Amino acid sequence: MSAIFNFCAGPAMLPQAVMQKAQQELLNWNDQGVSVMEISHRSKEFIALTQQAESNLRQLMEIPDNYHVLFMHGGGRGQFSAVVNNFLGDNGKALYLVDGSWSKAAVEEAEKLAGKDNIDCINIVDTVAGKRQVSVPDLTKIDKDYRYVHYCPNETVDGIEIFESLNSPWPVIADMSSNILSRKIDVSQFGLIYAGAQKNIGPSGLSIVIVREDMLALPSLTQSSIMDYRLAVANDSMYNTPPTFAWYLAAEVFSWLKSVGGVAEMELRNIEKAKRLYQCIDQLDFYVSGVAPQNRSRMNVTFQLTNSELDSKFLAEAQAAGLVALKGHRMVGGMRASIYNAMPLEGVDALVKFMTDFAAKNA
Ligand code: PMP
Repeated sequence: MSAIFNFCAGPAMLPQAVMQKAQQELLNWNDQGVSVMEISHRSKEFIALTQQAESNLRQLMEIPDNYHVLFMHGGGRGQFSAVVNNFLGDNGKALYLVDGSWSKAAVEEAEKLAGKDNIDCINIVDTVAGKRQVSVPDLTKIDKDYRYVHYCPNETVDGIEIFESLNSPWPVIADMSSNILSRKIDVSQFGLIYAGAQKNIGPSGLSIVIVREDMLALPSLTQSSIMDYRLAVANDSMYNTPPTFAWYLAAEVFSWLKSVGGVAEMELRNIEKAKRLYQCIDQLDFYVSGVAPQNRSRMNVTFQLTNSELDSKFLAEAQAAGLVALKGHRMVGGMRASIYNAMPLEGVDALVKFMTDFAAKNA
């Protein structure tokens, strides 16, 4: 079979080297004679794996010592409710910034759990000259007391990314499900960062939480024990049986990231991949991006064909050329190429060539 490049938004492609290693050691991990799926999460070998994973993630993201790193269940949405349950006891209020569908979904969950009166929400996306752009308000000018402000710096469905940091008087909580580890960030600016694993980390179901120690003193709501950050900290993310295979693969992805040069190298590669793809979209009249250049996601490149009648032909021919999962999210239509860390430059080049040829043939 010739090379397939998988542009799925998530679960997304994982680094080939990681998949090959996992395949080789599937039945006999670490000379145990059994699969990593079949051993106790409390065995000393598995605990060593988790410690290495945490230490590698700390190095990769330069996580300060006053932050805990948790490996939890429930993906991204699990954290929509976990943050509310953990930080909004006794009628505490929170501010949510909305820049696309996932931050909106987070608001809906927060309203459901904490009540609409306790959740304020600001839409931070405007359409200027036909392109969507973000303007983050100066939060220091808002005369209210919030437990936290929540936002999503990379909106997977909409293809919108926020590169600037928030100037906030309250702890910042960020849903980095689709851009964690894609570029350098200053962790110390955040009260809590979470990410569903299935884009830049590993298989779905797992989520990573990076939480500043002092956040754990905020009053919590009554909640399920497995989503309780304090219990997760006290039990080294093993209050109940963790998703061990996902954790193992995440550990392998972190090792791979280190071996190829870490987040700094990834950022350079991601800048280059996104540049080549957006250049193609901008240079050919055949395609259009609805996002202003300063907010174009490096991870999820959304675009439309100017003649949408050609959408299905485009998708079918792309598929035949080995370029799969380019259909935009059902809520927004059009196309979306997700080019996370694992997508090699050759995949983007193959897509650019396909798009250029397709435009020439169908002009
Ligand atoms: N947040 C973002 C930014 C996402 O992209 C996604 C999933 N695509 C989620 C949250 C929800 O993640 P999950 O399906 O793991 O609950």
